[in-house]
Amino acid sequence: MKRKKIIAGNWKLNMNQAQTRDFLKEVSGKLSADDLNAIEAIVCPPFTSIAAAGETIKEANLKIAVGAQNLSQHQSGAYTGEINAEMLKELGISSVLVGHSERRETFAEDDSVIKAKLNTGLEAGLNVILCCGESEATREVGDTDKWVAGQIASALEGLSLTDFASRVTIAYEPIWAIGTGKVCDSAEANRVCAMIRSKLAEILDQASADATRILYGGSVKSSNVDEIIAQSDIDGALVGGASIKVEEFPALVASAARESAKAVA
Ligand code: PEP
Repeated sequence: MKRKKIIAGNWKLNMNQAQTRDFLKEVSGKLSADDLNAIEAIVCPPFTSIAAAGETIKEANLKIAVGAQNLSQHQSGAYTGEINAEMLKELGISSVLVGHSERRETFAEDDSVIKAKLNTGLEAGLNVILCCGESEATREVGDTDKWVAGQIASALEGLSLTDFASRVTIAYEPIWAIGTGKVCDSAEANRVCAMIRSKLAEILDQASADATRILYGGSVKSSNVDEIIAQSDIDGALVGGASIKVEEFPALVASAARESAKAVA
């Protein structure tokens, strides 16, 4: 099944407004319009740089969507420091990351918080990139599939969405590969992504599972992206460190576009 490839950049706590403008202006000269049309490119800046990213992308006439890295599960009220889905929509964002391991681990977001965030984002009309992935310890004891399938089942429990595949993307991100330079072997990453797809078929239905994009994330860069993105069940990459490098982001987009062209041929 042909699924449009995604390159999504998670900028984490990097890039103020000036850096955001400079970066996007610089990469605009290196990105091909045809490549951007062939795939879905997304950048997820920090909240305060979202507007600057949107404006610069518009000025440079780039087909890049802007996403957010987080949202509150609450709508309003006494939640100091939080930002809700409607506030993000006001900024014109298309999607939001939910369940990133840095949120799960550093900010103690458990499965119930992640589920609430997923539901809140979807109800507000945002698309969600739902992240999952095992720790090194979980992998070492052979529990990767059980753990990842459990994360997916918990987040999707009771969810009823007719257009699931166009609203939810899954990102498989083994924690031990994030920001470490240790990329997961591409065949193994593909095996886990295929396992996630069969779990989706079990929870939803086969057609939705076949249509849903599943990304790999964890130390993806221009030197390893071709092999990862060529895998049958991997539909793109969620990229941290390399996505804010001027030479790397366009190379990632070009790789995904080349792979898409192969799938058509
Ligand atoms: C991420 O933050 O989602 C990520 C995959 O980071 P990195 O590419 O730096 O490993």
